[in-house]
Amino acid sequence: MLRYYHDAGKALYFNENGLKEEMIIDVQWFIDAFKHIITDELHFRGIPGTQREWNEYYKTGNLQDDLLLEIWRHKDEELFDYLKKDTNYRIRDASFEKDELYLQYHKKSLLNFMQRLGLLAAGGESHYVPCMNRKEIEKEFLDLIKESKSKSSVLIYQFEFLPFFLFFRLVVACMQEDGWNVLGNRGTSCLYKNAALFSYIENNIVLSVTEESIQLQVFCPIQGRPLETEKTCIIQGRIEELLNHLAGTFQRKIQYVRGFKRRTDKEEVISIDIKEHFLPAKDIPDRVIQMVCPLHSINDRHIIDITELTKYWKL
Ligand SMILES: [Zn+2]
Repeated sequence: MLRYYHDAGKALYFNENGLKEEMIIDVQWFIDAFKHIITDELHFRGIPGTQREWNEYYKTGNLQDDLLLEIWRHKDEELFDYLKKDTNYRIRDASFEKDELYLQYHKKSLLNFMQRLGLLAAGGESHYVPCMNRKEIEKEFLDLIKESKSKSSVLIYQFEFLPFFLFFRLVVACMQEDGWNVLGNRGTSCLYKNAALFSYIENNIVLSVTEESIQLQVFCPIQGRPLETEKTCIIQGRIEELLNHLAGTFQRKIQYVRGFKRRTDKEEVISIDIKEHFLPAKDIPDRVIQMVCPLHSINDRHIIDITELTKYWKL
C-alpha cells in the first residue's frame, strides 16, 4: 500500500534499509524544504552566515551544515511567527529541534530522503548540493596537470550503469576523510560539476566523472619531486574502499571494471573519453612492457606502453 502511495506521488516511501522506518506523507512540505535550500540570493533574506560560506555554497554547492540549519531555521521562524498569531496554538517548545512541527526537527530524515532522491549528498560538517554547481574545471588546472612531470596515468573505473550521483557521494565521502582537503583556487573550493580536486599526503588528487566512468589521477604539486608509488597506491586503495561502500548502498547492483585508456598520450588529463579505447586492467598480460593495441593492429596501429599506464597503481 505504501508503495502504491509512493508511485501515485501521494507520499515518499522507500522499502530500503535506513529509509523504510519512515515515510513522507506531505510531499509538498518535503519539496519546499529542498526548494528553500536552492533558492537564489538566500543571504539577502537575513539568514546569517559569513560571506565566505555563501560564496562557497553558491559557486560550488558545498553547503556547511550550520548554514543549512540557518536556512531551515529561517523557515521555521516564519512558521513560528504565523502560529503565534493563532491563539489556539500552544507554544510547546521554543527550540525548533525538539518540536516536530519544524524542519529542523526532521533534519536527519529530510537529508536521508534528499540523498536517496539524488538531490544532495549528505555529510557531517557539510553537504553537497550538485545542482548549485555549474562550474567547469579551470583551464589553468588542466594545464598545470598537463605540464606536470610527476603525474600518474588516469585510472578509470568503468561502470555498466553509473548513477551520476555516485560521483557526488564519493566527493562528499572524500571531504569527510581524515587528512583529505579540497584544493582551493581564488578563495573557493575546487569542486566542479564533473570534477573535484583534493590534497592528501603531499599529493594532489583529481577525481572526475563522465557518462560511464569515474576517473582518478594523482599529481605532485611540487615541480621536480617524483611521484611515489607507495602514496598513489594508498590513495587508490582508499578511493576504491569508498567506491565499494557507496556502490553497495544503491538498490541496484553497481559494478565497475578498472582499467586505462589504450592510447597513451602523455598530454592527456582527466576527464578522458574512453568510448573506443578502454583497456580493462584484467586484459593486460603479465610481465608485458608494451603491446600493440588489439583494436588497432593494422589501421591506425599503435603501441600501448603498459609500464607507463600501470606503474603507479596496484592491479
Ligand atoms: Zn587502439
